[in-house]
Amino acid sequence: MIELTAEVVVAGAGPTGLMLANELALAGVDVVVLERLSARSGLSKALNLQPRTAEVLDLRGLLGRAEQRSFATVGEGHFAAIPVSYAGWDTRHPYQVGIPQGEVEATLEERLVEQGVTVLRGHELTGFVQDATGVTVTADGARVRADYLVGCDGGRSAVRRGLGLSFDGVEGRGYGVVADVVFRVAPAGVPEQWRSMRNIVASHGAGVFHTLIPLGPPGLYRLGYGDRLRRPADMRAKVTDDEIRQVVRERYGEEVEIEEIRWASRFADDSRLAQRYRMGRVLLAGDAAHIHFAAGGQGLNLGLQDAMNLGWKLAAVLRGRAPAGQLDTYESERRPVAARVMDNVATQSALIPTTAEQRAVRALVTELATLPEVQHHLSGLVSGLDVRYPAPPDAHPATGTRLPDFELEHGYASDLFHSGGFVLLTTEPAPAPHPEVTVAVVPRLPWPGVTRALIRPDGYVASTTGSTEGWIAA
Ligand SMILES: Cc1cc2nc3c(=O)[nH]c(=O)nc-3n(C[C@H](O)[C@H](O)[C@H](O)COP(=O)(O)OP(=O)(O)OC[C@H]3O[C@@H](n4cnc5c(N)ncnc54)[C@H](O)[C@@H]3O)c2cc1C
Repeated sequence: MIELTAEVVVAGAGPTGLMLANELALAGVDVVVLERLSARSGLSKALNLQPRTAEVLDLRGLLGRAEQRSFATVGEGHFAAIPVSYAGWDTRHPYQVGIPQGEVEATLEERLVEQGVTVLRGHELTGFVQDATGVTVTADGARVRADYLVGCDGGRSAVRRGLGLSFDGVEGRGYGVVADVVFRVAPAGVPEQWRSMRNIVASHGAGVFHTLIPLGPPGLYRLGYGDRLRRPADMRAKVTDDEIRQVVRERYGEEVEIEEIRWASRFADDSRLAQRYRMGRVLLAGDAAHIHFAAGGQGLNLGLQDAMNLGWKLAAVLRGRAPAGQLDTYESERRPVAARVMDNVATQSALIPTTAEQRAVRALVTELATLPEVQHHLSGLVSGLDVRYPAPPDAHPATGTRLPDFELEHGYASDLFHSGGFVLLTTEPAPAPHPEVTVAVVPRLPWPGVTRALIRPDGYVASTTGSTEGWIAA
């Protein structure tokens, strides 16, 4: 049994936990990461980074590393398999990065190790007790005393259950299967490289859908299929090679030949949101706080942005730069974002037609989605670019929105955030409003009439006056 102390224990080294641990380590917080598995599985549910996630990784100098491990750049997103362009957004990254989840995790863990933090593997959190001064976390073979615990331990979160929080939502009726398949003879007409969402997803008949995404190497594809109305009798039953071969034969024809099925998994379409994201010294992030059907490619992206929102706030509270109450803004900002994603996922599910009326609705939405304003709205929903955090009623409309990146004489505005602090962007020289704030004089700001903006470590506008009030303790 190892006995440790830390400022923060992160339970779970999936994408959310690794991102959060990186943010905490960057801020100089003593963090311990406990992971149940003894080695990274290498398996990848998610395959994409949305534009806002690309921006967020860029704020920390991590995007280039992730892109080196990517297998595709996809020039658009999709909403219920209807392609939607990101072109209307002021972003340097109007595309999805095609990258397996395992490679996102590898990128984040590589940076974490460079920051001196090693994931403690083979230590499943089994319980915790919080009191007025901290949390005692018990895991297989380890006990850690810490100031805070964050449950990044996935949809079946032991931390969420330990808090006794409800995980309410909608129990889905359907299911999906994903499998990585190598074809000796691939289906005719499917793209060999993933460049767009066209010809990637198709729905066939009442509620049934199929997807085929090329993963880079010749013949290797991510096969997906499912039914949003019916589930197999045993959802936990292993997906057999015979099942996959049969689906491929029926959908893509007898002439298609499978060389290898690398892995396969069945998943449900339940949608659930944790009742609270914080109880005292224990918080939830990522799938531990929200789960939904994998429509539009959003879950991993949501988790990484939870981590980006929470990391600097926890560090500020631990260093006495903010009252503990600032942690409540993590819930008040991020829980509505997850609820909104769950709504858009429900809408996407409803657009997989099961009746003639729904087919007509889908046809109409497909037509509407060719209009630039509709594209903008739908791509904003799935990309995370439209996230706007609550702001005082008299604040400038930019307050609470993301800073669109822009070029400076040397580099980009995003480079100013690599160290994870607040930045005052100003068009005229100005004194730092607080020792914690870096001042950068820039030729212009992205909002007409705004000459000064205090930007939070996660890239959102704190104020357009430069005031640190409410953000950093005096
Ligand atoms: C089929 C499918 C396809 C998907 N495709 C996409 C996509 O294209 N794009 C997208 O954005 N999202 C997608 N998602 C969603 C995405 O995979 C998840 O949202 C993402 O994995 C959440 O990351 P996380 O770190 O919060 O949780 P997880 O990835 O579940 O990680 C949790 C970690 O905690 C560990 N753990 C669990 N319990 C304990 C414990 N008690 N103690 C210690 N460690 C523990 C686990 O071993 C794991 O390593 C998909 C999901 C599915 C099912």
